[in-house]
Amino acid sequence: TKLTHAGSEPEERALEAALRPRNLDDFVGQSRVRQQLGLVLEAAKIRERSADHVLLSGPPGLGKTTLSMIIAAEMNAPLRISSGPAIQHAGDLAAILSSLTEGEVLFLDEIHRMSRPAEEMLYMAMEDFRVDIVVGKGAGATAIPLDLPPFTLVGATTRAGLLPGPLRDRFGFTGHLEFYTVQELELVLRRSAMMLDLRVTSAAFTEIAGRSRGTPRIANRLLRRVRDWALVHKLEEIDDQSAAAALDMYEVDARGLDRLDRSVLEALCLKFGGGPVGLSTLAIAVGEETETVETVAEPYLVREGLMGRTPRGRIAMPSAWQHLGLAMPKDAIF
Ligand code: ADP
Repeated sequence: TKLTHAGSEPEERALEAALRPRNLDDFVGQSRVRQQLGLVLEAAKIRERSADHVLLSGPPGLGKTTLSMIIAAEMNAPLRISSGPAIQHAGDLAAILSSLTEGEVLFLDEIHRMSRPAEEMLYMAMEDFRVDIVVGKGAGATAIPLDLPPFTLVGATTRAGLLPGPLRDRFGFTGHLEFYTVQELELVLRRSAMMLDLRVTSAAFTEIAGRSRGTPRIANRLLRRVRDWALVHKLEEIDDQSAAAALDMYEVDARGLDRLDRSVLEALCLKFGGGPVGLSTLAIAVGEETETVETVAEPYLVREGLMGRTPRGRIAMPSAWQHLGLAMPKDAIF
């Protein structure tokens, strides 16, 4: 349809890039991480050295990539972007590392998904700015040591717990990104609306922010859906009612749960009687990868008090039944 066409991928990505804040001062919320990171960068500048390696953890869409760009910009350094899944062989990493220039910032997204041999190469690169390039195979293989220029690694992971200890320990600073408050998301939305040249009422900002699952990426995406709606309905100004109507149509409910969140919750309540059920079983029941359920749906459901984690598995909290409009069975675990 016209509406989905308007949100075609390249345009979405271009918009997402255009909406990224470019310096720490424009980065909304996360005051603790912002302050700590500001200090790390300031100190590096005074010492005229590249900044310590930085690990950023938190659910998708909270600003990890944006922060890595800001780090590079603040350090006046070039930025190289790659990701764990793109580095399957140690050689892939060696190629990246050996082409880094002095002070360069290397952003590795989903760093927990790197292959084991690459990970071990990274340990040495982070600590000693050196790699061993292995040439040849079997008994004739030789390791050629290669010195690297000092660089700053910015690793991103959806859960710091997914990282092996030795890798985690090699980061000088770890920042945990938290979900944003509705007020913070309103600020993100105000800035985006200004850049998109949209007229939006305060109440509409609140409405959209409340449905954004504490996540700036989602807030910006919902704003674009609302913009499409306003365009098609020829609205000059977006108020809370049109925002709500637009988002209802996209199946984003008043609490911000989307289709995946709701299907996880429904499976938990209806197929497993409220649990406890193992995460991987739950993921199979909704036809998703375990990691997607664990990193995308679960953190928000837990934070919202809809789902609980116990040693025996996931459980539905009383408010889950309520939110889905279901009666809680008497023998539910909770
Ligand atoms: P991640 O790398 O954690 O998945 P991104 O850095 O790609 O998230 O952020 C996703 C989108 O959300 C970007 O378009 C960015 O503009 C926006 N965004 C993220 N954090 C903030 C923030 N603190 N302030 C304003 N916009 C933000």
